[in-house]
Amino acid sequence: MDIETLVRRYAEIETLPLPFDVDALCIHSSSARPRVLVNSRRAETRGRFTLAHELGHILIPWHLGSLGCHAADWSEAADMEYRSTEAEANRFASELLMPSAWISEILKTSPTIKDTVESMEQAQVSRSAACFTLIQALPPGYLLVETDREQRVRRTARSSGTTAEGPKAGEVAPQELGKATTRVERIDAGPSCFLWYCLRPTHAPVRPKEDSRTILDRMLWRREKGTSVQQSIAGFVGAAFSRWPPSSVDEAYALLRQRLMQPDLDWFTRDREFDKFIAAKAHELVARPGRKRRE
Ligand SMILES: [Zn+2]
Repeated sequence: MDIETLVRRYAEIETLPLPFDVDALCIHSSSARPRVLVNSRRAETRGRFTLAHELGHILIPWHLGSLGCHAADWSEAADMEYRSTEAEANRFASELLMPSAWISEILKTSPTIKDTVESMEQAQVSRSAACFTLIQALPPGYLLVETDREQRVRRTARSSGTTAEGPKAGEVAPQELGKATTRVERIDAGPSCFLWYCLRPTHAPVRPKEDSRTILDRMLWRREKGTSVQQSIAGFVGAAFSRWPPSSVDEAYALLRQRLMQPDLDWFTRDREFDKFIAAKAHELVARPGRKRRE
């Protein structure tokens, strides 16, 4: 797709060295023809993605005004308005250049994440754009961490419904995320490295005869820890369900398993009854009558 010709249908494009640290500026009012100023200092392979992102601002009706864009900024902290506008334009660009249906087809025949990303590069986008688009298309259980060459974390993203906590910005990315990781793939891209933690699926064991409370008490007794630990475990259990209420026991089991993989709960996740505990908990949470599901 000739993205530049497409954008020129709706806007003027100028390429010039902008004195700000942005990929592009979009100047868009309801009265004049929109203008897109592409920063020639930041040309790179993400040129096409940046243009598609700007087209998003032009075509999404509520993106008016002058927007300074970081089209490659995919960080998860999408709480501020600026970020949500940027996230929307990125979603638009992803779908335009790498449609979900096309990615689904690629996924059917690609045994690894790396194969998938390489196939997605047919869309002539950067590896970064391909990776961050792919994570949005994947089912629960994938964590993407972008690092520098020293493996220090720059940003992380999770597929929808993933509860595992990734490493924080600035930390050194771990080799794996405890027992939850089934596979880690590494994709190099110039000054960056993309680490994919695959946490895919787990099946909950049959419901244990004892309830989770009894199992937990025994685990705590072995460890001789007090109520503060119980509270933090209760907190993690709550957090596992805040974003994505599970519809099945398997899903609940996977959510708990991922979320409880905390470095300071190492003794807990290594306890021989850990799997039994979360199995009991998963069955209890899904079976609980009258539990409200958020849709
Ligand atoms: Zn933007």
